[in-house]
Amino acid sequence: MRLFALLAILLLCALPPAAAMPSAVESLLMQADDDPRKALDDIQRQISAAATRKDGEARFWWMLAAARVQAKLERHGDAEASAAGAAALLNDIPGVAEKHRLWLQFVQLDASAGTSEESRQLPVLLRVRQRAEALGEARLVCEARGLELWFLLNLRSDDEAWLAAEGQERCGLQLGWPEQVASAQLSFATLARNRLADGSSGQSPEQHLARALEVLGDRPARFLRSLVEWEAGISLRHRRALEQALERLQRARLLSQELNDDAGVAAANLEVAAVLTEIGRPAEALPLLGEAHRLLAAGGEGDLAFRLPRILELNILALAKLGRAQVLDEVDRARVWLGREPDAIDRARLQNAMAQGLASQGRHAAAYDMLRSSMASEQASRSAARDSQVLRLQARYDTARRDAENAELKLRSEASRLQAQSEADRSRTLSAGLVAFGALALLGFTFGGRELSRRRRMAALAMRDELTGQPNRRAVQAYAQEQFEQAGRLGLPFAIAFIDFDHFKQVNDVYGHPAGDAVLRAFAQAAGGVLRGQDRLGRWGGEEWLLVMPGTRLAEIDSVFERLRERFAITLVPGQPAAARCTFSMGAAELGPDSTTLEAMIEAADRALYRAKADGRNRLVNAPLPVAA
Ligand code: GH3
Ligand code: MG
Ligand code: MG
Repeated sequence: MRLFALLAILLLCALPPAAAMPSAVESLLMQADDDPRKALDDIQRQISAAATRKDGEARFWWMLAAARVQAKLERHGDAEASAAGAAALLNDIPGVAEKHRLWLQFVQLDASAGTSEESRQLPVLLRVRQRAEALGEARLVCEARGLELWFLLNLRSDDEAWLAAEGQERCGLQLGWPEQVASAQLSFATLARNRLADGSSGQSPEQHLARALEVLGDRPARFLRSLVEWEAGISLRHRRALEQALERLQRARLLSQELNDDAGVAAANLEVAAVLTEIGRPAEALPLLGEAHRLLAAGGEGDLAFRLPRILELNILALAKLGRAQVLDEVDRARVWLGREPDAIDRARLQNAMAQGLASQGRHAAAYDMLRSSMASEQASRSAARDSQVLRLQARYDTARRDAENAELKLRSEASRLQAQSEADRSRTLSAGLVAFGALALLGFTFGGRELSRRRRMAALAMRDELTGQPNRRAVQAYAQEQFEQAGRLGLPFAIAFIDFDHFKQVNDVYGHPAGDAVLRAFAQAAGGVLRGQDRLGRWGGEEWLLVMPGTRLAEIDSVFERLRERFAITLVPGQPAAARCTFSMGAAELGPDSTTLEAMIEAADRALYRAKADGRNRLVNAPLPVAA
């Protein structure tokens, strides 16, 4: 015990002196990693004491602490109420500052986490973290990292989540905060599990979990340990080491029981029940599921609603294995629940179990229909996952674009200052800036798609134009169609443009066909330097191109055109005289309220291109809005 006290003192000393949150609040929050229920009781006593003292600021901080612990215990309704209570106190704080608001915002996000609004919440959280960084609120930065990680995990943005976990681990080490380091390891373990499922290699989940236990040492962190055991059980189950999984999950359950952590017991029960059913002990699973149901119901509607589909699913699976006719009642209950239009992924899993339940009672036709519904739900969940990914990238991109535009402005003034210098020098400066722009855009775009792009590489080969390496007509059209539909679903801007070289026949006639080919390749290369990650330029045919620009409005295409024109003008065509370069004309169209098909947009862009040619070439013409189908 003395060792713990010493460690606690050391830890408090290691914290930055200017931390916004009072240290008493901080140390109780740390206790919550050991025994959250007890910490919550203490915090609630502090809230009452602060109320009696009429100390608005102390009450504010204690309310925030309460919300944090309640969220840990998965009591989201309570957590939201505490956060709202803190918000109401904000104006009672003398000298209320940005740090108060940032902590409040963070806690509000934390309290409502798990409501599958991650793609909307993530940009807000990123702003909080960035402001906290600017203010030097190291603790808040670290906490925000942890939450960011959780959002990204839920969004299955694994590569970005990995970066966030590294950030959390780093700040945990810097602040001398082993619990944060251990939390980061927990997330690494989850990510490693996903990677295993995807067939990639790397450290195993168990190695990360062993490290989590190692950094915790003999610190009193029973709550965190219950999470480690739970995660270990899940990983082992995924590896089909079912007996070992059962052992770890049961250990998690015991720890949660010891801490009166009902949500933890319920969660462990579900996993233990799943394993028991899998290893042929379904009869033992049923009482655990019953207990989980009771515990969650006592925790409130929200908690139960969150886990109910899993309870129903596991009940059905266990009853189906036991061959009990009662399974049909459960299937009916599941049907009622399906009527509430749950998430596609929950729906898919539940429908799958329902199909097995029906089949176990010889209802084969109904089982088959249910299986088909399950597959349809799974499809829907995939497209929902893609949509949320897009919304997130959209939010990211707005920041990346602002940065890029600022960088470009700086670059422009730099370029005019250097006007007197030779053209070669100038193009070097410009391309350095454009490299910076590309890097910024990449930050926003590549992480989420890396895994995907690897798996898609084989398929992509057949979709590329051989001369330029750009997507061919089929590929760019498919991409345009996909993005058109997505933009329609999500109400996002979307634009396309046709590009055609000016007097290209002359280039061929005067300099030869190979020179013409080199110009085509130079254009593809130029576009690669200036287009955003989600823009796609495809070769439509000959020297005509289709540019697909998700998230782009017509008003923004001027600058796309200018960037492309400038870049193309300075892209050197190997072995060709400068005169062999040519200009291009562009016709653009935006998705309007009336556009019903991609074809309508393509036609509008084509008409605009025709006008650009007629008006004298080397220019952009935008199709008038709205684009009627
Ligand atoms: P405009 O400004 O009106 O577009 O004039 P243009 O000369 O570019 O006319 P148009 O677009 O009709 O001509 C396209 C020319 O592009 C015809 C063809 O010789 C040339 N071309 C098409 N594909 C290729 C190719 O793969 N390589 C080369 N070198 N030339 C190509
Ligand atoms: Mg043409
Ligand atoms: Mg042409």
